Amino acid sequence: MTDIRVRIAPSPSGNLHIGTARTALFNYLFAKKNNGKFILRIEDTDAERTSQEYIDNIFDSLKALGLNWDEGPDVGGEYGPYTQSERFDLYPKYAQMLVEKGFAYECFCTPEELEAEKEEAGKNKQPYVYSKKCENLTEKQKESLRKEGRKPAIRFSISKAQKAFHDSNILAFDDLVKGNLHQDTSLIGDFVIMKSNGTPTYNFAVVIDDMLMKISHIIRGEDHISNTFKQILIYEALGADVPRFGHLGMILAPDRSKLSKRHGATAVSEFVEKGYLTDALVNFVALLGWSPSDSEEIKTVDEIAQDFDITKISSSNSIFEYDKLNWMNGQYIKKMDLTKLYDYAMPFLKKYDTSKYTKEQLIRILEVTREPITTLSELEFDTQYFFEKPDLSEVKELLESETSKKVLPYALDVINSWGFDSEEKLHEDMANYREYFKAQGIKPKETMWSFRAAVTGRTRGADMGAIVYLLGKDEIVDRIKTALK
Ligand code: GLU
Repeated sequence: MTDIRVRIAPSPSGNLHIGTARTALFNYLFAKKNNGKFILRIEDTDAERTSQEYIDNIFDSLKALGLNWDEGPDVGGEYGPYTQSERFDLYPKYAQMLVEKGFAYECFCTPEELEAEKEEAGKNKQPYVYSKKCENLTEKQKESLRKEGRKPAIRFSISKAQKAFHDSNILAFDDLVKGNLHQDTSLIGDFVIMKSNGTPTYNFAVVIDDMLMKISHIIRGEDHISNTFKQILIYEALGADVPRFGHLGMILAPDRSKLSKRHGATAVSEFVEKGYLTDALVNFVALLGWSPSDSEEIKTVDEIAQDFDITKISSSNSIFEYDKLNWMNGQYIKKMDLTKLYDYAMPFLKKYDTSKYTKEQLIRILEVTREPITTLSELEFDTQYFFEKPDLSEVKELLESETSKKVLPYALDVINSWGFDSEEKLHEDMANYREYFKAQGIKPKETMWSFRAAVTGRTRGADMGAIVYLLGKDEIVDRIKTALK
């Protein structure tokens, strides 16, 4: 059996997109499940759109998601370099090999000539296919074009490759996800594999790299299907083994259009900045096309890898439900180990002076505020009254009520007897405080509304005993006095 080797090959023209993250994840899961290798290759041949910032973002995002690669630009490997721009000297010799075998030819057409061909096709309402004008140039004709100062590009001859390896114009392959796919290749124009400036185009570089890196399975988005037909012919023309392909459906926004900024975050780093946990993101993204064999959707990457089967992936598009992601993120926040939550949450509390609390106290604050939140960014609002004096404007009416006029002064009377050295004791004291008013016909809920409003400026929030304990007696007294004013 051939070794399983898969790869993710992002182009660093932007931050790592959530769709690319899903492709990476499915490759990673496929490698895990089959004891294979997961490889990272940076496809930076488009120098104008590439930036180091994006390369760093790709590295950081994949790492944050736990999708660690076995071979890649930073960790190296047997088949490096793993960055395309460092591989430029590899491509010309394979292009030359194809020319010698008769599967590629020099093309001297100028951009203006090609534009004219396209316009002509447009006029005749024909899809544009390159005319093959340069396929059969004689040595003499080439010589004179060179003398004019023209530099040739190299084009791949679709028809020659198709004829050499197939009985008809139809090229078919068995896709791991989509089943049988086929295409009439007479509709594909001969395409450039090496530009006149000596750099390879995507469809060529990707084949040479996948071939040299011994990639066995190529799992990527279905937007690449049309490229796959071109690439298969290149493999065949080179006499190389053709890898297996699996094309994933697209990820669409809830309105079924392409997922874009206007729907919300799209890059992994944006989700992280908004307070999504990478564990939740990975779990959520796995469900875009894959379903667990049991009904339990919340799963770690290792659990998913055990259950993963590429042939069972849905071939249709998936809808990116932000609401479901929020729900799932909330589940992760609720169950997260508290010290880990502390590490993740502190960047979201930057606005506040957190130094007045110990780490232990901050952890308790997070423990009592995490229940309703779905993203960590909500913590800033939900913990505000622990760090700042409350804004009482929203609860003004409540503080002026008859209940408040009774329960708040009384709190000041009894607070000296409350046991501020233990949260447990405080819970008892507050229960007694409620009971005292209950006997006078004020519902415990109402007593607490007034008390909470005075201390936090809100009618809902964390456990009141914990709030009183963490804020301390002096602060509580001060807040109640302010509220009474
Ligand atoms: N660099 C290509 C992309 O980001 C890779 C496509 C492929 O997997 O072949 O779309």
